Amino acid sequence: MEKIYLDNAATTPLRKEVIAEITSVLSEHFGNPSSSHSFGRSAKNSMESSRKKIAKLLGASASEIIFTSSATEGINWILRNAIKDLGVKRIITSPLEHHATLHTVEVLVKEYDVTIEYLPVQKEGSLLFSDLESLLKDEIVTLVALMHVNNETGEMIDIERMGQLCKENKAYFLCDAVQSIGKYPFDLNALNLDFLVGTAHKFHGPKGIGFTYMKKNAILQPMIYGGEQEKGFRAGTEAVHQIAGMAKALEISYAKLEEEKEYVSDLKEYCEVQLKEAFPECAIIGKHTFYNIINVVLPFDKSKTAMLLFSLDMKGIAVSRGSACQSGSSKPSHVLAAFLSPEEQQKPNIRISMSHFNTKEEIDYLISVLKTI
Ligand code: PLP
Repeated sequence: MEKIYLDNAATTPLRKEVIAEITSVLSEHFGNPSSSHSFGRSAKNSMESSRKKIAKLLGASASEIIFTSSATEGINWILRNAIKDLGVKRIITSPLEHHATLHTVEVLVKEYDVTIEYLPVQKEGSLLFSDLESLLKDEIVTLVALMHVNNETGEMIDIERMGQLCKENKAYFLCDAVQSIGKYPFDLNALNLDFLVGTAHKFHGPKGIGFTYMKKNAILQPMIYGGEQEKGFRAGTEAVHQIAGMAKALEISYAKLEEEKEYVSDLKEYCEVQLKEAFPECAIIGKHTFYNIINVVLPFDKSKTAMLLFSLDMKGIAVSRGSACQSGSSKPSHVLAAFLSPEEQQKPNIRISMSHFNTKEEIDYLISVLKTI
């Protein structure tokens, strides 16, 4: 049976060049990058050239990039330490965030003297600039934690404008850019972001490796203590091969950005047209969505909801309903629950997330299988 992977917001297949890079670093630079002998130095060189490459691709300085095990780790570090080290008294976020942010702030509010404010969500799943603007008028030391591209709906925020607003109001800004790194051009020197997190497995790199960008003026204490790795910001021997794979994946993604963006945007448009033609009553969620994610509510009976993903999986098609961390759960998505009515939430929805590895034939197959349901 043919297998079709349309769940690229959950994770992405590795590029073959990335696998080659990882295996070559595993065999050629296996030393501990903290060792002073030649084996250690060669691992350290590999790691530092990866750091420089990532920094250059994102318009940052190498010293502003700290390697972590995941974006979740970076988010936890920044949220907790912004309270401890920067005197943050209020975190402004939104109900649309990933659980890496939402569950962390729920814990922090119990541990520290900090308040959490959630931006209201509009009907289409978007946030209003003016809501952030009015909250920031209060002179409280604030960190704004928002994602650039929503992982369930693809809805985007204007990080240029929101960053500028945070700067004008002296608020720190943490951007969860997990879904857009490698797919959107960043110039971190020019953007008014204090912190940004990314993770390699969303841009055709390996799992278990991510990075945190920490602007020079917003220095935090470590969350993980131990050795002096990562200039003391994050102890633990670095995964040199994963880091090299992440740098390679990012390098190729940006080298091919225009070409792949055009291809995937075209595919998304094709998919939307096919969905509307096959199911005129379907509703595509979102207002300004990113070019690789479609979240569609299908006009099927609600009795089909539980079986929909299973039926597609039986036909070899991988899509999801929401974030991978909760796709095994029967609970409605917290993202959709933030703006869809209880009745709308009961209708079956699927998230189709594409990459340059997908084709129009795969979309045709998906639609033909959906029709049989
Ligand atoms: N933020 C967003 C928007 C995500 O989509 C994800 C992954 O699903 C994360 C954070 C967590 O990333 P990681 O898997 O590196 O912990």
